[in-house]
Amino acid sequence: MDSFEDVTDFIHSELRFQDEAGLLRSLLPMEGLQRGVVKAKGKPLIDFSSNDYLGMAGHPALIEGAKKAMQKWGAGARASRLMSGDMEIHHSLESAIAVLKGTEEGLLFGSGYLANIGIIPALCGRNDVIYSDRLNHASIVDGILLSRARFFRFRHNDLNHLEELLKSHRSRYRRALIVIESLYSMNGDLAPVSELLELKRRYGTILMIDEAHATGVFGSKGEGIIGRTEAGAVDIIMGTFGKALGGYGAFVALSNQIKRFLLNRARTLIFSTALPPAVIGANLAAVKLLEEEPEHRSRVCELATKFRKALKEDMGINTPSESQIVPVIVGESLDALKLAESLLDAGFFVRAIRPPTVPKGTARIRLSLTANHSSEDLSHLLEALSSGI
Ligand SMILES: *Cc1c(COP(=O)(O)O)cnc(C)c1O
Repeated sequence: MDSFEDVTDFIHSELRFQDEAGLLRSLLPMEGLQRGVVKAKGKPLIDFSSNDYLGMAGHPALIEGAKKAMQKWGAGARASRLMSGDMEIHHSLESAIAVLKGTEEGLLFGSGYLANIGIIPALCGRNDVIYSDRLNHASIVDGILLSRARFFRFRHNDLNHLEELLKSHRSRYRRALIVIESLYSMNGDLAPVSELLELKRRYGTILMIDEAHATGVFGSKGEGIIGRTEAGAVDIIMGTFGKALGGYGAFVALSNQIKRFLLNRARTLIFSTALPPAVIGANLAAVKLLEEEPEHRSRVCELATKFRKALKEDMGINTPSESQIVPVIVGESLDALKLAESLLDAGFFVRAIRPPTVPKGTARIRLSLTANHSSEDLSHLLEALSSGI
């Protein structure tokens, strides 16, 4: 028969395959929500799966900031910032980011995903080469694919491997870009930033660092892992407002020249509607709170240190984590699902992380600690983990 594959057959077999491999994803709607406790499947669950590390998503200051901005500027931005969607509050938020990070400028993007898929293709094209840590987020990988540049993944945090690649490729490509995360979202471990800066200098590459999970939690002012003294040496630092900052959208901290360049080249910025006023108002309030209420940051860091220690010393569980993101790696997808299910039964909202989000054979549950948790929450979780594993 001269016909294409039937779409119903294709979708049916694809879903069955995912299901049998323990890889099927589905939604689980919250029925209610308050300070670190979600209601789902009819019962309250302590939430260990959100990225609201500072507990700011429900903070009255963010809600107030959103209301005020919306009352003044309206519900939507009405256009791309390059058209008539550009408002004073967008610029205020960009200045606040530049101050926080110690860079010349800040620049907003609709989301972290849009930032990564917009920036990378602006910087590199067919004649260029991009080096990406093996554990980099999907949005980085997609940005690289869109750029059409040659693409090499180096072993996670392995700078010897990266340097080998840089050495052998020197003179073969036009520009080179290294992309990393400062805090890896599924491992909770940190990048060797100063060594990377050294490699960048030695080989003359562009360096882009994604601080999605470090922003707000790390740094003396919540600026992230790249401190003010180092920030100027990194070409592009990206962060999001959707995680520790409790809002939505993303920013880049960068030089004046690179900002002018991206305003002209980053397609996800040029051809997409500006962030709405309410979102900007909430984000402005969140950045201000980093300065005014440092206690959320110290609280989550303290909880995380205690929790990692208890996992290791009391339960003999090894985790790569050096942060508030603490994975318990179990290996197979079905085992990770089973563990998540048993934790759910015990009153904890935890989700299994499976390929392709993480490499094959490293399925895990990812526990993210937040300032909303109490020490008792953590000891109960440890108990449930010891009976579930
Ligand atoms: C979440 C995340 C993003 C995407 O950010 P959003 O604002 O949620 O779109 C990008 N990079 C990393 C490392 C992330 O964890």
